[in-house]
Formats: sequence, structure tokens, C-alpha cells
Amino acid sequence: MLSRAGISENALKVLYRLKDAGYEAYLVGGGVRDLLLGREPKDFDVATDAHPEQIKEVFRNCRLIGRRFRLAHVHFGREIIEVATFRAQHTEAEDGEMTEEGRIIRDNVYGTVEDDAVRRDFTVNALYYNIKDFSVVDYAGGVEDLEAGMLRLIGDPDVRYREDAVRMLRAVRFAAKLGFRIHPDAEAPIFELGHLLEDIAAARLFEEVLKLFMGGSAVQTYELLCHYDLLQYLFPQTAEALDNDQNGFFHALILRAMENTDIRIAAGKPVTPAFLYAVLMWMPMQRRAKELRREGMTEVQSICEAGGEVLVEQSRHVVFPKRFSLQTREIWQLQPRLKRTTGKGPLRLLEHPRFRASYDFLLLRAEAGEPHQELCDWWTEFQVENPDVIAQAASRAMPPKRARRRPRKKPPAGGPGESA
Ligand code: ATP
Ligand code: MG
Repeated sequence: MLSRAGISENALKVLYRLKDAGYEAYLVGGGVRDLLLGREPKDFDVATDAHPEQIKEVFRNCRLIGRRFRLAHVHFGREIIEVATFRAQHTEAEDGEMTEEGRIIRDNVYGTVEDDAVRRDFTVNALYYNIKDFSVVDYAGGVEDLEAGMLRLIGDPDVRYREDAVRMLRAVRFAAKLGFRIHPDAEAPIFELGHLLEDIAAARLFEEVLKLFMGGSAVQTYELLCHYDLLQYLFPQTAEALDNDQNGFFHALILRAMENTDIRIAAGKPVTPAFLYAVLMWMPMQRRAKELRREGMTEVQSICEAGGEVLVEQSRHVVFPKRFSLQTREIWQLQPRLKRTTGKGPLRLLEHPRFRASYDFLLLRAEAGEPHQELCDWWTEFQVENPDVIAQAASRAMPPKRARRRPRKKPPAGGPGESA
């Protein structure tokens, strides 16, 4: 039995509204899975027999999105409830499209809830909570697998991975996050089919990378990605550097960074992909910078140039938006400046918007075995001695306050917060 207490109010609202409009409405996917496991769901997905246009008629604050996958997003302030129409598995039906290799490129053939269940990825992700009678409907054996801690793909794993190679990354992600085992049948093909990730859009892979490393289980995720030889398809230069990592420094650096990321997320602190990339691309960047120095560049020039080069190359595989890559390069470029502890430089560095991240990065390098402990201690002490400089820099970094509207005395029924 699943308690409604764990379901967000807005998700319940969507479910009831659809039901009252005469449609079937289920909570599905990670929401049901996580509630049954006693975990807090990240988001709530709704499945219904209403078509996108019909969903739009039921909700005012609803946007239809997606091409490969037409979905309705119902907005409640910051929370978005994703509402999808039941889909059917298809081969060459009217609105579904596949490439010759069997990859799905359009997926808009509607079907029944049973159809919808079998085209989902894992059995534990195909559990449906019916708002009509509060029952959990299990068409694929998901409850049993949930109890056994087993990730089992629905259908033939080989076919399902060829349809969508991202399912391999999802297997790793859920295994790491839930502490589940990947069923042997779903595990074996990963070693052979990993290369299919090369055909996945680089922008979609960035979304997946964020979920992989910023979901709170980065350490296990990283270890599993290495174990299944998948890292090379996401971060080829990183994987190559790891192969040539004789003293184990780079591996240690990545592991420490992943540990820190998990700790920060558990504590509710922010994490940025810029830092993660600074770590993952550190060794490839260093190697290229060394070459450039041999050709006559200064240290600062070489880091600037090499940083640009390795990130451009990386972006061919996994898109890395500029707003992050600029920060990653700053973190790197500040590393040589951190070596100078005399003159006016250090005080000015404290005011740099990327000082803190660069200092954290230096600490990591020391923890991973680079001989910088004394330098780290110096900077730690220097910050303690200059709290006012840091406070000033922090206040400058804050976005300007926006004028707040005075709250209305009595919000009208169905007013703000109840926008759908
Ligand atoms: P979480 O939100 O906790 O990361 P989730 O299982 O909810 O996990 P979502 O990406 O939110 O994952 O997807 C919701 C549901 O949609 C999944 O549970 C699964 O049933 C289905 N799904 C998502 N991606 C795929 C895919 N690539 N192939 C098949 N089904 C998928
Ligand atoms: Mg989800």
C-alpha cells in the first residue's frame, strides 16, 4: 500500500483533475518506485489516456513540450508535474520512427496503460499508482524486483539498449542510487553496446551526466561507469588519462571530488558542473599544457590554451554549456596564481569570484597526493586573517535584490500557487 502523504500536493491535484475530467490517471516511474522504497521522490510523473491537446484543455498552466516525446508540463510555481499520454511499443507504426540500427527517434504512438508499461525501461520503473482506487498496478513484475533490489529491463535487453542507449546509463545510475543489482541479462550487453552512446545527442548526454554525478551517489556511479567501461563514451580524454595514470593520482583526485560532491549534496549545499569538469578534465588539460610549454608557452598561457582545447574536444561528446566551461577554465587558470603568496596578488585573489572553487580544487589536489599541503594551509590561514575581504567579495557576488511586491492581503481562491 502506498501512502498519499508522500505524494506532492500538486501531483495529487493533477491526478484528481484528470480523473474528474473522465480520464485515467496514474502516478508512475521514479515517484512510485521511491515511495515504495521509503525514499523521497525527486519528481512526480503522471501517465494518462488523455492526449496532449486534451491535457492542455484540463490545465490552464500547461505547456506541451518535446518532439521525440510529446509531453505536457503542468506548472505550479517552481514545481512541474510531467504528464505523458500512454504510449505503445512500435516498430514502424504511423507516428513512431526508428533508425536502421533500431534506435527510436520518435515515440508518439498512443496506447493503453498496459502498452505504456512494457515500453518503460526497468520493471521497477513500470509501477502505476491508480488515483481511482489507490492501488499499485504492476504489469511487469516490478514489485518483486523492487523487493529483491533488482534492476531488470523489460523485454530483450539487447533490443532495448539498441532502441535507446541511454538506458545503459540509467541502469548504472539507478544501481548506484538505489544500491540495486543490475540483472545479469541486463548487465551482459552493456560491455558490448556501450559504443552506441556515441550516437546519442551530445546535449541529451549532458543532462544525463548531471543526473549521474549530481544525484547524491557520484562515487558509486563513477565506479560503476568505470566497471562497465562506459566512462570512455562520456569523457574519452578522462578515460584515456586514467589508463595512463601510473601513480593513481588522477583516480584519487576524481574519487575525492565525487566524495565531496556527495557530502555537499547530502548537506543541501550547492554543487556546480564547472567544478566537476575541472576535476574530470584536469589531467587531459595538464598533459596538453605541458606539451604547449615545451613549445615555448608560459604556464598561464598554456593552461588557458589547453583548457580551451580539451573542453572543445569534450563538448563533441557531451555538450558543456559556455556558462560552465568559462568557470572551469577560471578554476584552472587560478591554480598557478595560488602559488604566489607574496605581494598584493593574494589579497586580490581573495576577491576573485572563482577564488573559493579554486582553493577547494587546490585542497583536492593535495588530498590526492600532489605536494601542496603547505600552500593549502597558507591559504586557509590567509582567509581566516581576512574575513572582511571575503565578506565584501561575497556581497558583491550576490545578485541585486529585486523589489518585492507586497503580498496581497487575501489571495483569492484558486489564486497564486494554484495556477493550474
Ligand atoms: P528519477 O526521476 O528519480 O531520476 P525516474 O525513474 O523517475 O527516476 P525519469 O527520467 O524521471 O526517471 O523518467 C520517468 C519514467 O519514465 C521512468 O521511471 C521510466 O518508466 C520512464 N523512462 C524514462 N526514460 C526512459 C527511457 N530512456 N526508456 C524507457 N523508459 C524511460
Ligand atoms: Mg522521475
